[in-house]
Parts: sequence; C-alpha cells; structure tokens
Amino acid sequence: MISKELIQQIRKENTEVTLNEPMKNHTSFRIGGNADCFCEVRDIRSLKNIILLCRDYDTPYFILGLGSNLLVSDQGIEGVVIRLGGEFNEITLTDNNMVRCGAGSTLARLCNFAKNMSLGGLEFAWGIPGSVGGAVYMNAGAYGGEIKDTVVAVVYMDKNGRIGKYSGEELDFSYRHSAFTEKDHIILNATFQLTHKPQHQIAEQMQELMERRKTKQPINHPSAGSVFKRPEGYYAAALIEECGLKGYCYGGAQVSPKHSGFIVNDNGASAQDVLGLIDYIQRVVKEQKNVDLNCEVKFIGRA
Ligand SMILES: Cc1cc2nc3c(=O)[nH]c(=O)nc-3n(C[C@H](O)[C@H](O)[C@H](O)COP(=O)(O)OP(=O)(O)OC[C@H]3O[C@@H](n4cnc5c(N)ncnc54)[C@H](O)[C@@H]3O)c2cc1C
Repeated sequence: MISKELIQQIRKENTEVTLNEPMKNHTSFRIGGNADCFCEVRDIRSLKNIILLCRDYDTPYFILGLGSNLLVSDQGIEGVVIRLGGEFNEITLTDNNMVRCGAGSTLARLCNFAKNMSLGGLEFAWGIPGSVGGAVYMNAGAYGGEIKDTVVAVVYMDKNGRIGKYSGEELDFSYRHSAFTEKDHIILNATFQLTHKPQHQIAEQMQELMERRKTKQPINHPSAGSVFKRPEGYYAAALIEECGLKGYCYGGAQVSPKHSGFIVNDNGASAQDVLGLIDYIQRVVKEQKNVDLNCEVKFIGRA
C-alpha cells in the first residue's frame, strides 16, 4: 500500500496524479494491472521533488515512456509510475543542425520536426511508436538505422536528483542497449546531430519505410513490437516460423500471422498469457533449432 502522506506531497507538485491507474491504458499491448499511483510530471523541479519523496517514503518509482516495449504484470505496478509531460516535450533547434528534444516527446514529433527543418538522419525512426526517452534507453533501430547514429549527448537525472550529461563513448550504445539500461537514471533530453537534406527526400524516405512497416507488421493490433532480440546470425521471426509457430495461440495471446516476431493481443490477453506464449516459443525454438531467444520486451510490475 502506498502512503497517503506521500500522495498528498506528490499532489503539491506540478503534476496530475491518479490512483489505481490501469496500465493497459498506457501500453501498446493494452495489457497490465493498476499502478498504485500514476503521475504525469510537467517540470524538472517537480520531477526531482517526486523522486526524492519516493526515496524518503521508501517507495519504488518507474519511468514510463509510451509503453510500446513493455509487458506490465496483471498484478500491476507497486509505487509511482512517472510519465514525462509538459516541458519534457520541448524540441529546440540549436546550432550546426543539432536538435535537442525532451525525453517525453514522441519520436514521431521529433521526426516531423527534423523533416520540417530539412534535417535528415532520423528517417529510419519514423513509425517506431515510442518516446524519445524510450528510444534512447532502448537504442531503438529499424531499417539499418539506430538512435546511436545521431545522438551526441543525453542529459539525465540520477536517483538523488542530480543532473548529469553523457556524450560520445559514455552513452555506451549497442544493439538495444544504452548506458541507461543498467542504471536508474532518468533521461531528460537528448541532442541529435542531423544533416541538411532536401525536405522532399526526407518525406519520401519516411513514407517508403512506413509503407514497408504496414505491409510487414501487424501495426493495427495491440503488441509491443518484436518480442525477441535478433539472435546472432539468425532472425527471430524466421526461426519461429520454421518451428511452425506462426499464428499459434496461447490464451488470448497469438504469434502474429503477419509477422512471427510479434505477439499480438487479439483476444483480451493477460500478461500471464503472453508470458506463457513467450516461454513456449523459447522452449520450442531451443529444442528444434538450438537457439536461445532473449526478450527485447521488458516485463515489469508485481511478480
Ligand atoms: C508496432 C510496434 C513496432 C515497433 N517497432 C520497433 C522498431 O522498428 N524498432 C525498435 O527498436 N523498436 C520498435 N518497437 C518497440 C518500441 O517502440 C521501442 O523500444 C521504443 O523505443 C520504446 O519507447 P517507449 O517510449 O514506448 O518506452 P517504454 O516502452 O515506455 O519503456 C521502455 C524502457 O525505457 C525506459 N524509459 C522510457 N523513458 C525513459 C526516460 N525518460 N528515462 C529513463 N528510462 C526511460 C522505461 O523505463 C523502460 O525500461 C515497436 C513497438 C511496436 C508496438
């Protein structure tokens, strides 16, 4: 149970607070029990105060992006779920074709901003349905591009409310990994080094990649994208398909008939259904192909 006093203190900050908020309303899987407390924080001072309050009340907090890479427990999330809103949505053109973007902004807004400024480099990210914070955290990538190709600096807040900055090697980017993967830091904003490019070329490339997505991925069905990381030397989707699991159902969860790397929630799936299906896929692929599939999707919340 979350302390009433903590809630009262959080309500004094520049934030909107809801209690027992269904996480299924905040995840692309449309799955997840309630968060004890959910708040959209609008400025940096309030963010600092809230995480320090959580520390003082010995209450965990979780930073949510757009919930597009998460599987949230049916039992919900203990403590405070924080989403970055307000000033964390700001996008600014700085100098030398650099763009600074708040972590709360959608990646789509950033891509559109860059296109409107005739700045290329983020075309690959058009169609990745996350926030800028989530994209940096995950080093999101598609069609040969990755966030690491353009990010030059990231400003963060540590768990004691101190502000820091990582650049270059310190960002420790690799496949679906960043310096933030193992740390409790909150990404506040990221600076992208882009290059001048004719706007029509950027727009054409974005449209072309979106068309490819629509043809290949079940984008109109609730999912969290590719469930598994790409195993060295293989494609997860191809392995799953070769094992005869395309379209396989487990409770309300299904291996997408359109893209075997996706699990879709087409029939009121629970997190337990998805976990059961993940476990089954991993076992079958190990047995038949002797390959370990590791999850890209993150399971969070009460066990
Ligand atoms: C249809 C579909 C297609 C997809 N296609 C792709 C694709 O092509 N390529 C790809 O890489 N991914 C893809 N994904 C997965 C997902 O969109 C990405 O991983 C995305 O970057 C996640 O961002 P998010 O804001 O939704 O993060 P969330 O899912 O909310 O969170 C993911 C992790 O990031 C952390 N996080 C988020 N914001 C912050 C912050 N400000 N500070 C610290 N930590 C933070 C969270 O705590 C969590 O650990 C797809 C998903 C879907 C549903």
